Amino acid sequence: MHWILLYTVAVMSCLFCKIIEGTIPSTAVYQDEQCYAFADIHPQAPIHILIAPRAHIVSLNEAGGGDRALLGHLLWAAAEIARSKGLAKGYRVVVNTGEDGGQTVDHLHVHLLGGRSLSWPPG
Ligand code: AMP
Ligand code: ZN
Repeated sequence: MHWILLYTVAVMSCLFCKIIEGTIPSTAVYQDEQCYAFADIHPQAPIHILIAPRAHIVSLNEAGGGDRALLGHLLWAAAEIARSKGLAKGYRVVVNTGEDGGQTVDHLHVHLLGGRSLSWPPG
């Protein structure tokens, strides 16, 4: 019972949960029963899309063994969106994780960046 309450409080205060449920507007790019993909509000490339699971998972570090199929699904969705956007020259998929990883929104999401040549290594 306790974890249900904690989960509910986390979801109610989560920006991406609000975007997924539609109480905060976003530009949808792709969605299915497991994930919701939308345009990043501060795009870092001509194509910058975020793919988030509908379930509230804080980060990759909090994803458990039961989430393995979901994690694969998020990568598949990223590739599917890249194909639909015509990113034949390539693209980058990034999962910022935790403080050192530069994660600013505590709901797991995959960045899909493309449409320009991307440098490496990142900052
Ligand atoms: P990260 O820093 O990896 O946690 O990524 C969070 C991303 O969410 C950043 O690229 C932000 O630009 C993006 N972002 C923040 N608020 C919104 C919003 N309301 N709609 C779309 N993207 C957002
Ligand atoms: Zn959330």
